[in-house]
Amino acid sequence: MSWQDDYNRRMMNTFGTPKVELVRGEGCTVFDSDGKRYLDFLGGIAVNSLGHNHPAVVGALTSQANLLHVSNFFATEPQLALAERLLRISGAGEEGRVFFANSGTEANEAAVKLARRTGRPRILSLKDSFHGRSIGALSITGKAALREPFEPLMPNVDIIDTTIEALAAAIGPDVAALFVEPIKGEAGVQPLPEGYLEAARELTTQHGVLLIVDEIQTGAGRTGRWFGFQESGIVPDAITLAKGIGGGVPIGALVTFGAASALLQPGQHGTTFGGNPLVCAVSNAVLTQIESDDLVANSAARGAQLRAAIEAIGSPLVSELRGRGLLIGIGLSQPVAQQVVAVALDHGLIVNAPNESTVRLAPPLIIGDAEITEFIDTFSAVLNAVLNDAPTEAS
Ligand SMILES: *Cc1c(COP(=O)(O)O)cnc(C)c1O
Repeated sequence: MSWQDDYNRRMMNTFGTPKVELVRGEGCTVFDSDGKRYLDFLGGIAVNSLGHNHPAVVGALTSQANLLHVSNFFATEPQLALAERLLRISGAGEEGRVFFANSGTEANEAAVKLARRTGRPRILSLKDSFHGRSIGALSITGKAALREPFEPLMPNVDIIDTTIEALAAAIGPDVAALFVEPIKGEAGVQPLPEGYLEAARELTTQHGVLLIVDEIQTGAGRTGRWFGFQESGIVPDAITLAKGIGGGVPIGALVTFGAASALLQPGQHGTTFGGNPLVCAVSNAVLTQIESDDLVANSAARGAQLRAAIEAIGSPLVSELRGRGLLIGIGLSQPVAQQVVAVALDHGLIVNAPNESTVRLAPPLIIGDAEITEFIDTFSAVLNAVLNDAPTEAS
């Protein structure tokens, strides 16, 4: 396996050595360097909204090839069109504004700077949350294992329990912002408690605190709405976007609502690549296709269909199904998620394990009956193989 040797010799050891080298994709499938086919039910971690090699993406990439990048000294039509679309589908509308970045981490970094502009020192975020890897975004990330190797981080961040009581106890006139994910993807697809966002909106409004919703994993139709917060009917002060809005090109965005749109002043934030015409043209094509093919509704319907079919497998390994639309966390009755992922890969199925007892599914939004049937056939076989292999629980 010489590519693995190359990987270990050349790549910094931050991800571990991959088991497979991928060479091409088509729809909901990818192929490795040995020609083996895989059903892709992870979609590059909720990124490949239209799957692989979609004609709309290929078309946008090729037609924008004559103007890839110009710097933010200049306006471009793809950037303005994408901003218009994001303001429309988010509901931020004419009072809203967009700042483009290159990743989810950077979108949250911009949001942290937005929060700083309130003049208030403290930021609240939730236990087990994930907001990115830069020092700023990591400082508001609630996963201790990710934070601890890099302390001291940014001060004045309080990481609180995901309860309204904890928020009510922590909030006050010195708090600038509360960051929340509608569903904590990296924590194992953990939705917020029923009514949390509504109550958080009330409390943050009372105390003049920005409510910033991290929609990086839940956005772009993933949960059966354009954005996860829309399930609750609240209006946030800002949302952060990345992953699925780009369909595979690196893009991030901070979208502000209402008064928050005026917090960042000229010269206070910037980026070289952010919002360049290449990524904006592709993102626009992705969102246009999601809209014209009604893939937000497909996400809701196929998500429900998939959940029902997973339940119908009736495996004792599956103890719980979490998430909405096509962001699904399969809770396992034993801590064997890594084995499930490895056996699935052997069986030609790509899924992942955000923690040891959760398998995450985030397939392309274009999946239909054929993909679901193939997934269920393969996944049943995988669960059986793992069950037969797993050590029996000590009683
Ligand atoms: C992936 C993710 C991020 C970080 O995005 P990157 O593009 O990896 O920097 C932040 N927040 C959430 C909820 C995510 O899922």
